[in-house]
Amino acid sequence: MPISPSAALLPCAELHLHIEGTLEPELIFELADRNGIDLPYADLEELRARYQFTDLQSFLDLYYSNMEVLRTGADFAAMTRAYLRRAAAAGVRHVEMMVDPQAHLLRGVPLEECINGVAGVLATSLEEFGISTVLIAAFLRDRPIAEAEDVLRQLLAMDAPIAAIGLDSAEVGNPPEGFVELYRMASAAGLKCVAHAGEEGPAHYVEQALDLLKADRIDHGIRALDDPALVARLVRDRVPLTVCPLSNVRLRAVDTLADHPLPQMLALGLNVSVNSDDPAYFDGYVDDNFAALQRTFGFSPDQLAELAVNSVESSFASGERRAELLELIRAWRAAQGVS
Ligand SMILES: [Zn+2]
Repeated sequence: MPISPSAALLPCAELHLHIEGTLEPELIFELADRNGIDLPYADLEELRARYQFTDLQSFLDLYYSNMEVLRTGADFAAMTRAYLRRAAAAGVRHVEMMVDPQAHLLRGVPLEECINGVAGVLATSLEEFGISTVLIAAFLRDRPIAEAEDVLRQLLAMDAPIAAIGLDSAEVGNPPEGFVELYRMASAAGLKCVAHAGEEGPAHYVEQALDLLKADRIDHGIRALDDPALVARLVRDRVPLTVCPLSNVRLRAVDTLADHPLPQMLALGLNVSVNSDDPAYFDGYVDDNFAALQRTFGFSPDQLAELAVNSVESSFASGERRAELLELIRAWRAAQGVS
């Protein structure tokens, strides 16, 4: 039975979101204008025409290029505020947001501008948008390992308000095993650990992220399905996999949404949640992802609620906040006529 339009506002947590991936074309032009930057596109249409990706790398090239417009703390704040406003309208009530500090430092943007610009907005997000937040510093796996370790040291020295570290950017050929010391440092500093693994890379990258990096959560993880023994382990240990359906389609990890393994992952008992990854680039915030899944697979309200419950239970939110969010999901289920 189709869900009602109000069901689009399923309360959930978003656990896999790159704040730089929320930079909408309009804001790119606005920030370029503010900072006196000449963009290599004449207008919005020309920029939008570049959003046809063939794989992860083709997206990353545009993603890094567009970051050029982020120069000051105010720019980072404007981007963060725009995402939170849109996320609130999507039903997101808690977000664990990744930022790529290295990508900005490399362009000469001081860490303080980037971190404080984002964190300043997150500090009042619950009051302003009804969204509780966690900030994750993600490191670029296709850059030198020593560089990541140096940036983590700088973040710790400035007492940056981060709760976790992550690992992102070009996956294939950059396995988790190189980052053991980075994750050991983070863990020793009391930070949680997440890592992208098994998006384009093989199933054993997921195993490495768990065994070597001691990751609390795997971002993507869809390639884990290639290894039944690994699937059994992920099910047994309830390892959270932050799946991003529309991202996987746009970056050609799957051909079409109908080919996406999410229904299979749910049926196997994997702990999966639905996330938007880089929504400005993939035509889809969390509500768009849920709506597309509902349209393609006819997910029942019960299945949608299960995905939302997984997102909350896999978050780093406090026990009290998680209980609040689970109560919101229960109320949503009741409103759908699900017992
Ligand atoms: Zn991602």
